[in-house]
Amino acid sequence: MKKPTQSDLARRAMVDAERRRFLQAACGTGLAAYGLTFAHPVLAARSVAVSSVNAARHEGFTRYVFRISAPVDFETLLLDDPLRAVVDVRGTQLGGVSLPAVSGSPVVERVRAGVRNGTDLRLVFDLKKRARPQIIILPPAEDSDHRLVIDLPHGGGAETTIAKRDDLPSRNSTLQSGSSGFRDLVVAIDPGHGGKDPGAIGRRGTREKDIVLNIGLQLRDLIESTPGLRAVMTREDDRYIHLRERTRIARSHDADLFISVHADAFRLASAKGASVYCLSQNGASSEAARWLAAKENSADFVGGASLSGHDEDVASVLLDLAQTKTLESSIDFGDRVLKRLGNVARLHKKDVQQAGFAVLKSPDIPSILVESAFISNPDEEMRLRSSSYQREVAQSILEGVNNYYTAHAPQGTRYAML
Ligand SMILES: [Zn+2]
Repeated sequence: MKKPTQSDLARRAMVDAERRRFLQAACGTGLAAYGLTFAHPVLAARSVAVSSVNAARHEGFTRYVFRISAPVDFETLLLDDPLRAVVDVRGTQLGGVSLPAVSGSPVVERVRAGVRNGTDLRLVFDLKKRARPQIIILPPAEDSDHRLVIDLPHGGGAETTIAKRDDLPSRNSTLQSGSSGFRDLVVAIDPGHGGKDPGAIGRRGTREKDIVLNIGLQLRDLIESTPGLRAVMTREDDRYIHLRERTRIARSHDADLFISVHADAFRLASAKGASVYCLSQNGASSEAARWLAAKENSADFVGGASLSGHDEDVASVLLDLAQTKTLESSIDFGDRVLKRLGNVARLHKKDVQQAGFAVLKSPDIPSILVESAFISNPDEEMRLRSSSYQREVAQSILEGVNNYYTAHAPQGTRYAML
């Protein structure tokens, strides 16, 4: 028999400690129901309390709502074998509150709770199929409780979209009085290129226009199955849309956000990673961005003639969308998307990139351009072709949107009320 190594022993000790904590938490939960609790007074004073948990199956997702005494930080983790989604909620105690079961959820088998690091609440969702939790923290509405909302999407694209539209009146009616006045936040999704303009082309012949359309359609389905959000596409098939037309479509639908999806290309095959751009009046923040800016300005020089190819596309879309007033929002939003992208992709740059284009128009929608990877890099071209990477990119953008609106849900929107 093999003698256990130091690291084996250390790991076992950790597992034991974890198990002990879990048992303590489980016992604590049981005792709390009888009015007893072992919570440490100092920790208890600092920790966030859960006062109730509700769960329900909705069209397109299964939702858990935790009423909590203060806003919290959280981390999520997806695990395979068996499929689980883990949500660690910092400095939070479940106390005597029980976790309700949701019968007939297509995605959640059951949910369990434990204690992590002595102070954090660990929620484990045993899943019937892969689903990444979408989490938002909502500020108090009419009472003093914050809400931690965890949605597990059921998946299934178009079906979900249709169900959601049919479902809207009945779900609206469950909201408080005056709900008819609440509007959905509109997210414009702009898959780059299309039709006669293939965008960048990889060494294996992968066309940017096809990849970004797939990502855009997945993002549309995710947006549509998120309560309070609605998606508008600049194109839903392989067609050419003029650059100005893309922003016009967004404006005509009163879009609240604009997300252009692209795949990067560079003459060096080694260039790699995802990036997020938004516009700046104050000079370029990277070599590439400077180059784009110069390219755009030279387009002006030649009388604004439309040049085919990716870089002019990037330049024009950004140019079309910038505005001093919305720039801060764009950077904030872009930063949140970039952080989420960093969980699924290598990043080309760690910060949101800004380019110093001459501002010729006065855009009014916080806007970002996501370069999902380098199609000119053979490894990344393979990734871009896989539907799982496309889904991960779409999911990351959605999480960025949720994260942004958790912080900035405008008054009068359904999102702020949920
Ligand atoms: Zn492009």
